[in-house]
Amino acid sequence: MMTDQIEDIERSVVKERASAFYEPLSAWWDENARDFPWRFGKTSSWGVLISEVMSQQTPMSRVLPYWNTWMSVWPEPADLARATPAEVITAWGTLGYPRRALRLRECAQTIVKRHNGKVPSTYEELTALPGIGDYTASAVLSFYFHQRITVIDTNIRRVLSRSVEGTESLGGSATVQEKKIANLALPDDTHASVIWNQATMELGATVCTAKNPLCDDCPLQEKCVFLAAGKPGLGQKRTRPRQSFTGTNRQVRGLILKALRSNISHKLEYSDVQKIWDNHAQLDECIASLDEDGLIVIGKNHAIALP
Ligand code: SF4
Repeated sequence: MMTDQIEDIERSVVKERASAFYEPLSAWWDENARDFPWRFGKTSSWGVLISEVMSQQTPMSRVLPYWNTWMSVWPEPADLARATPAEVITAWGTLGYPRRALRLRECAQTIVKRHNGKVPSTYEELTALPGIGDYTASAVLSFYFHQRITVIDTNIRRVLSRSVEGTESLGGSATVQEKKIANLALPDDTHASVIWNQATMELGATVCTAKNPLCDDCPLQEKCVFLAAGKPGLGQKRTRPRQSFTGTNRQVRGLILKALRSNISHKLEYSDVQKIWDNHAQLDECIASLDEDGLIVIGKNHAIALP
């Protein structure tokens, strides 16, 4: 058989399997979707964008109090654009990867300059903003602007890889095959595509989780290819297991920022910084990297401060 004929058969199998999932998935979403304030049309495009940036690498339940604070202090891009770096780093708290806070501020400033303070509604304009990549742009376009666009994150990849293909998603960057499956699986109807994206992502976050998928509670269990095959390779990863957090530079960087945030002047003398961590070589390395990332400034006698 010719290769393109095989591809046609594969395409039709993927489409058929995915379309059989739509009804149970959408019914499950109606019953089980968590009621976050950035869902169901309760916030602005800016609120959705903030939630998507915050929830990358951070579970939505942890994001909630931070999102509430940010939206009450900076409800529009113009408000965040006027904030100081020290204010946004402080408000970011312990959300992790604090460079995201500075990038969001830059993003807000660009929205004010280029788009009159309104979040743009095209993929090209969104991905041209600082800190906004393919995932965030697609999520904002689908979830807020209700456009038909494929959204790919680790949860969606895992659900599709398992339920449609019957294989474990191995993590790392999305493969060509995973992108192809996600594009084929997306319903043609625009409204259905929005439900599909949100429901698949939610299922991956709460039911079809990486280590312990709750197949007994899953709306796709009857037709899931992975379950039928006995969950081959469950939990396998392409990437190395994550280094434990304790003792890492990430932990030390977090402790330095925490000390600066909790000091009323947002400044610390070097003698006080040295009390944060015993390994001073590692401490200095972390101070240098925070400075390089624009998250702190180094002053006289190695005193440090939020920018
Ligand atoms: S049946 Fe199990 S493996 Fe299949 S999609 Fe549902 S939770 Fe995931």
